[in-house]
Amino acid sequence: MDNYINKNAIKYSLYITIGTFLFFVLLEPIEFKLYHIAVIIGYFLMILVFFTIFGKSINEIKEAELNKKLKKIQKNFKNTNFEEWTKKKTQEIAQLKENEQFRKEFIGNVAHELKTPIFNIQGFTGTLLDGAINDPNVNIKYLERTDKNAQRLIAIVKDLDTISKLETGAIVPEMSTFNLNETIEEILDILDVKASEYGVKTYFKAPNNDIYVIADKEKITEVIHNLVLNSIIYGRKNGETQIIVKEKKKKVLISVKDNGIGISQEDLKHIFERFFRVDKSRSRERGGSGLGLAIVKHIIDSHNQSIEVASEEGKGTTFIFSLEKSSK
Ligand code: ADP
Repeated sequence: MDNYINKNAIKYSLYITIGTFLFFVLLEPIEFKLYHIAVIIGYFLMILVFFTIFGKSINEIKEAELNKKLKKIQKNFKNTNFEEWTKKKTQEIAQLKENEQFRKEFIGNVAHELKTPIFNIQGFTGTLLDGAINDPNVNIKYLERTDKNAQRLIAIVKDLDTISKLETGAIVPEMSTFNLNETIEEILDILDVKASEYGVKTYFKAPNNDIYVIADKEKITEVIHNLVLNSIIYGRKNGETQIIVKEKKKKVLISVKDNGIGISQEDLKHIFERFFRVDKSRSRERGGSGLGLAIVKHIIDSHNQSIEVASEEGKGTTFIFSLEKSSK
């Protein structure tokens, strides 16, 4: 830094000296004398001294400012918990990678889910058009299968629509107070045919007739319907499903318990993930989209409530979730 200022000081002193000399010579030509050289050198040295002192003081100001900035940076450095900072950034990067991976998997899963029913529909209608329509042995059967696949397609698209709306926050729970017992009875009535078809008996237990909750009735109906339907579909022949309602302080706990095929501990970790299926063929064969429990979890989360699951392979599964109790 010193060198830089000295060099500059010499340079500028020289320019000013030459400039001044030329100015006077041009203004009034004088006869050059030897002592003029001494005057010029003296003049030059005087400017040089001035620049050196002035330059140094600028240098000192700059250095002081620089030191101040350096101290501030050092202080911030000391205040930063780098271990925590690194951990946070690593977590953020991991989350971004996970999201990216999830998006790719999600698109892959959607395409895969839609592909099967679409190809089936194309296959059956193609065969019918090729002449099977006139064969009374197969025409109705193929039309029924076409219809079944179309129904499945509709169910998948409906579930996809629901889940995307829930995830983007487009669906906000419409809270109201309603009689939970009545709602459960209605769901069991609707599922009665399904339960008989699978040879599963349903039981409902509640401490009294009037249990009121504050929730989105339509959404909670969907949750209970989904859980009870799963308990029937993944139940055992001559098995049973119990729906038990309990009051606990300001909450109501609803459990759906079956003695069906159960879920392994490893699979249980993924049970609320989209498109996760333990028994893929049983799920597809029975019209499942693999999105039911993901939707259930979203709905319960949007109510700021929780849902838990416990299961043992070959013994059965219990889902239990909470709702806000109403004193009505
Ligand atoms: P699906 O449409 O396939 O039924 P869900 O999200 O409702 O999708 O369930 C995901 C998977 O969890 C199912 O495919 C099934 O393997 C398993 N599952 C859900 N409920 C039960 C249950 N009560 N007993 C055993 N397995 C179950």
